[in-house]
Amino acid sequence: MSLAINRDTTLRWMELFAAQMEQHREELIRLDTAIGDGDHGTNMNRGMQKAIEKLGASDPADPGAVLKTVAMTLISSVGGAAGPLYGTLFLQLGTALAGQADVDLPAYVAAWRKAVEGVQSRGKAQADDKTMVDALLPALAALEQASELDAGLRAAADAAKQGMLATVPLIARKGRASYLGERSSGHQDPGSTSTYYLFESACEAFTS
Ligand code: ADP
Ligand code: MG
Repeated sequence: MSLAINRDTTLRWMELFAAQMEQHREELIRLDTAIGDGDHGTNMNRGMQKAIEKLGASDPADPGAVLKTVAMTLISSVGGAAGPLYGTLFLQLGTALAGQADVDLPAYVAAWRKAVEGVQSRGKAQADDKTMVDALLPALAALEQASELDAGLRAAADAAKQGMLATVPLIARKGRASYLGERSSGHQDPGSTSTYYLFESACEAFTS
């Protein structure tokens, strides 16, 4: 059954994502150690724990305010590539949803479109560059076809997972992994993995 997208369920989404980043910290560290500098799990866990602290202290009024608070926290407290990119993602989501107490499916999908565009315009990654964009693009495509929130979110999470798995054979063309050239092939991209968990968290937060 679908739940509404409102302040409380958006807070729940962010709490579940923070919990996923804590739970999968070691996995993300391991993936980033293979083709990067090993900090992705630490970065995402620390950033999201901070975001949850900020949310507890700031009492945001609506989904847009929740997501903007997360964005500002990630931008100011997480270094590397993923901090600013996730910051941009949440800022675009939050800005697109500004002032809406109850978000319907078309508005949520439109916000995701802006968020993915924001990540691509900031990081310049295209499909198959072996980045988080490889999870975001198929997830967005699944949402665009959805007629119901819960089925749409399930399809988006499944599509993000397929996108994540499909990064394994790719040769990285953006970010630190691109320094490895062909040696980046054979490893799953860490950022697409955290993005998959973001959609799994949405599934759990907005459906029950
Ligand atoms: P850093 O690479 O600076 O150590 P992280 O380890 O936290 O930062 O994040 C690495 C992830 O960031 C990569 O796995 C990839 O998914 C994502 N990433 C890196 N560069 C880009 C980019 N230009 N566009 C989109 N995503 C990117
Ligand atoms: Mg790293």
